[in-house]
Amino acid sequence: MPINKLLIANRGEIAVRINRAARELGIRTVQVHSAADADSLAVELADEAVDIGPPAAAKSYLNAGAILEAARETGADAVHPGYGFLAENAEFADAVETAGMIFVGPRGDTIRRMGDKAAARQAAQEAGVPTVPGSDGLLTDPGAARAIADKIGYPVMIKATAGGGGRGIRIAQNGDELDTLAPQAASEANAAFGDGGLYLEKVIERARHIEVQILGDGNEVVHLFERECSLQRRRQKVWEEAPSPALDAETREALCGSAVRLAKSVGYRGAGTIEYLYDDKTGEFYFIEMNTRIQVEHPVTEEITGVDLVAEMIRIAGGAPLSVRQADLAIKGHAIEVRINAEDPANNFMPFPGVVADFRFPGGPGVRFDHMLYPGYQIPPFYDSLLGKLIVHGESREHAIARLQRAVSEFRIDGLKTTAPLFSALAEDAEVRSGAVHTGWLEPWLEDNGAGLAQNEGGLAA
Ligand code: ADP
Ligand code: ADP
Ligand code: MG
Repeated sequence: MPINKLLIANRGEIAVRINRAARELGIRTVQVHSAADADSLAVELADEAVDIGPPAAAKSYLNAGAILEAARETGADAVHPGYGFLAENAEFADAVETAGMIFVGPRGDTIRRMGDKAAARQAAQEAGVPTVPGSDGLLTDPGAARAIADKIGYPVMIKATAGGGGRGIRIAQNGDELDTLAPQAASEANAAFGDGGLYLEKVIERARHIEVQILGDGNEVVHLFERECSLQRRRQKVWEEAPSPALDAETREALCGSAVRLAKSVGYRGAGTIEYLYDDKTGEFYFIEMNTRIQVEHPVTEEITGVDLVAEMIRIAGGAPLSVRQADLAIKGHAIEVRINAEDPANNFMPFPGVVADFRFPGGPGVRFDHMLYPGYQIPPFYDSLLGKLIVHGESREHAIARLQRAVSEFRIDGLKTTAPLFSALAEDAEVRSGAVHTGWLEPWLEDNGAGLAQNEGGLAA
């Protein structure tokens, strides 16, 4: 059943992105928003808007009842959840379908299986996909944790099965630390995610974060190659690129093939990402988790494959089969995305909510800026600090880095501080340029270089 009217259950740049894809498909859009987002670009661009509650996300963007009510009121026949908020909430996906509407994403039971990190680990093992050495399923008690960790060796990671966005992870260097941290981690996870379930993984040191984009229609599954997201701060990605500079053709095929096998084993429908750690010293890769939704960094894959992932998600949800075949997909050039956050990188990334006075955004060949800004926009303090994503595409990695430097040099925002200066400094770094990075690389670099990251100034006409 093709979709006629799509409700966008999210905010910020991803809401704008979904609206654009829907409009190009001839689908009308309904933007729900909190009281704090009434003046947002997403609201401005949508056909209709519905206020679903107060600023706090728990009362608006996480308020499933209010969102379903808005969908009924406006006659929407589908709901796109974006990322974060209710995107990986199986009960919400089920409730949308029970209300007779389409959820743009996998079935509720797939989210239940693959969105729960310990359950997904088991699904990976069953599909023959290597996982990080660790516990079989959830830890039953702290004593069990100690026995497993003594066997696999320290340091170990204590992970919340319901965690995400870099939250719900603790590292224990030895058994005593594990004994102290495990009960703390359980109560924290309970408070943060409403689920205290924990599992253990060995820490893979100096590994790269490499993830595979897949698309499924419930029948066929294709992969759209990998993205590398090793430059992270607090286990959150700040720079993402495709393809990974670390993979040869053979490893790429093994990695992407394993992702397709896993997605097929659960009859996957929609867009999804299978995340791995890759140890370039041994050539081994290990599954870490699956994200059953569109990801923040999806544009780099769009740039190198020419596939509109958000449009494809919407088409699949409307019942269409995949419009791309594996044999037709190829990597064209190299793309890099950097996250422009309202944070001061010279001051420990302190959030910097403010008013966007004026700006000049970069353009020209191979430059895309997916954002939520307009002059006079007041950034609300209630949500995450992502303002937009600067994406560059070039013929080679070297070319993409040169474009990134050029684009960041053009970038100006008056009125607030952003993470933009971080990226011109990183683009000049010899190790980043050579591609010799890992997930623990950026934090020590920031210790040495963070304080010197000055904002671009001048160049805007008064
Ligand atoms: P991606 O995996 O697409 O790079 P992130 O990990 O940065 O995405 O998360 C995307 C958004 O979703 C962020 O706003 C993040 O804070 C939020 N998020 C992800 N998982 C959760 C979760 N389990 N609970 C709350 N917020 C989450
Ligand atoms: P989230 O659900 O918060 O995205 P992930 O399990 O995907 O959590 O892990 C987030 C990041 O934490 C990874 O990209 C990586 O940098 C680090 N990490 C996760 N598991 C391990 C591990 N076993 N060893 C080393 N680093 C890890
Ligand atoms: Mg992850």
